[in-house]
Amino acid sequence: MSLSEVTDSPKIASLKGVGAKTLERLAKLNLHKVQDLLFHLPSRYENRTSLMPLGSVKPGDQALVEGLVEVTEVIARSRRSLVCRISDGTGFLYLRFFHFTGDQLSRLKPGARLRCFGEAREGYYGTEMVHPDYQHIADEEAGHVDQSLTPVYPSTEGLHQKTLRSLVERALDLCRENDAILKEWIPESVLSALEFTPLFEAIRVLHQPTADAAAEILGQAQQRLAFEELLAHHLSVSRFRNHMKQQAAPLLSLPETISKQFLDSLPFALTGAQNRVIHEIAADLAASKPMMRLVQGDVGSGKTVVAAWAALAALSSDFQVAFMVPTELLAEQHFRSFSHWLEPLGVHVAYLAGKHKGQIRRETLEAIADGRAGAVLGTHALFQEEVKFHRLGLVVIDEQHRFGVHQRLALREKGARDGLYPHQLIMTATPIPRTLAMLGYADLDVSIIDELPPGRSPVKTSVIPSTRRHEVTARIDDWVKGGKQVYWVCTLIEESEALECEAAENTTATLIEALPNVRVGLVHGRMKQVEKEEVMASFKSGTLDLLVATTVIEVGVDVPNAGLMIIENPERLGLAQLHQLRGRVGRGPGDSFCVLMYQPPLTQGAKERLGILRETSDGFVIAEKDLELRGPGELLGIRQTGQVQFRIADLARDSDMLDQVKATAEALLEHHPEAVEPLLRRWLADGVRYAEV
Ligand code: ADP
Ligand code: MG
Repeated sequence: MSLSEVTDSPKIASLKGVGAKTLERLAKLNLHKVQDLLFHLPSRYENRTSLMPLGSVKPGDQALVEGLVEVTEVIARSRRSLVCRISDGTGFLYLRFFHFTGDQLSRLKPGARLRCFGEAREGYYGTEMVHPDYQHIADEEAGHVDQSLTPVYPSTEGLHQKTLRSLVERALDLCRENDAILKEWIPESVLSALEFTPLFEAIRVLHQPTADAAAEILGQAQQRLAFEELLAHHLSVSRFRNHMKQQAAPLLSLPETISKQFLDSLPFALTGAQNRVIHEIAADLAASKPMMRLVQGDVGSGKTVVAAWAALAALSSDFQVAFMVPTELLAEQHFRSFSHWLEPLGVHVAYLAGKHKGQIRRETLEAIADGRAGAVLGTHALFQEEVKFHRLGLVVIDEQHRFGVHQRLALREKGARDGLYPHQLIMTATPIPRTLAMLGYADLDVSIIDELPPGRSPVKTSVIPSTRRHEVTARIDDWVKGGKQVYWVCTLIEESEALECEAAENTTATLIEALPNVRVGLVHGRMKQVEKEEVMASFKSGTLDLLVATTVIEVGVDVPNAGLMIIENPERLGLAQLHQLRGRVGRGPGDSFCVLMYQPPLTQGAKERLGILRETSDGFVIAEKDLELRGPGELLGIRQTGQVQFRIADLARDSDMLDQVKATAEALLEHHPEAVEPLLRRWLADGVRYAEV
């Protein structure tokens, strides 16, 4: 028997009597194996461990009750319903069902004994429960209630709690029979040093806690599982990193003369931080293993020029560079900067856009394939099968948080040739808190541009209610009279791009009317690419004063003369995203301002979050707070990319464990390598795993 057969959990389908429909619904919750059921933890518990006498049930109580049916009737008042009265000698209670079957009706005959759980409310005839969870019980079962709390699981349409509960019970039974399913892979010494609950016990407690189980016991059980999950992620990343270290990459270097020629052509001198990061990159490129470097730098810190320097190093060593960005708007902008910077040095810069079709596309693809195109800018279009590089030496990815780990690695594989892998440079303005960096980014070395170009002062941020909209509008008028430009950002409404665009259109109309002397433009996600570009170009050249935009301007847009930004409904966005948006201003000389115009009333949490933005412009502080307040998924846009999604661990809650996780991972890799693969199998869905190594 192979190792995987021993450690792989049986499929839920192998449990007796689980129908196809149920399996389908379970699959929607991503539950396929018995082990998935075990890790599908309750979101809450109901206490059904004691019976309440019917005479003492009051509206608002959530109660477990028992009684005998006295009378059942179908009543066709305003809405047809089945009403059933039960009593237990202390009083009575009405059960009401708006949906019911004939079978249900016929079984609720006088004398039937029922146990019901639900919330009581004031009804037409007296206290009632609407659609209680009920069961028929035999007389001898009367009064024999559950000893443990009743778990309530996250579920999906058509999948009953009862089904889930019974499946979990069977899964637990199966583990009792076959301890290979939940085999303990963490060495005994570690478990006892950390005073951890054994794995099976932790899982059992969480599914079936006793009524008096202290929150502490549940907390310990949860920690035990979170630890193992974090450990598995850490192992996956470390193993991948070790694997990468054994690969070869081309040696790239930039002759001093070309470097000087490039830097002299810039209208500014590099900051100390930019210089330092360039040195770090140069050292990586000159080594024979692939660089995997993340450059973090706040918005406006000047990452693009650093990337251009790295690109030039690859180009002068006769290799190509792929430069990938998340949006076409940004690709266009970088295409312009790169052409401007690199073409005087004899580099052919190409741009591959999704919109390019036919002849143009063919020609661009050819130039990439035969190596004429040295630097290639593009969106994720660069991943496509048809894009073939001649000699790819460096991959630069801008605004990494928009791409998943897998996309990043895919581009790398694509460039591999003759046993050489391209170097990777990843740039992000979203500072990655230490905790996340350790997991999702542990395969990367990190450089930080912690200095803004001179003459930038922090953006002054104010938080005001939309009831003061007219004041804001008046301020725009003054600002524009001073020869400066303004952004007005309309944020996502109800997750609908269509509505967001509509809101932006309405706002534009209102502003045009209120500000006759201001030239107003609009960009939103539903406009044609050419239209968007035209508007952006007009704003950049100064023929528009005010740009109304949806969040499409979030990344990278650079218009130094725009020093005022109004963000509508900022309470809907995460801190990191707001910080990114705000980074569009404060790029030129003079003071700049950001007005966060919220829709009152503001919740306490939202007040706190917006307050953080007002107080600090330090991207790291903001990212840490964002993680604390919202959790890691949203912070990095991970939900969409499936990058680091935990089943049980919660980085905001469990970050204390990370040092221990790291130490345990190292110990396992060194002394118990046989435990690594089973742990990865247990915890990481196939899609989350780093490249198979
Ligand atoms: P980000 O790090 O947000 O990508 P960019 O690379 O777009 O920032 O740079 C923002 C602006 O600052 C650009 O206009 C760029 O030309 C300019 N810039 C970059 N480095 C410097 C510098 N050392 N001094 C002055 N301006 C700079
Ligand atoms: Mg940028």
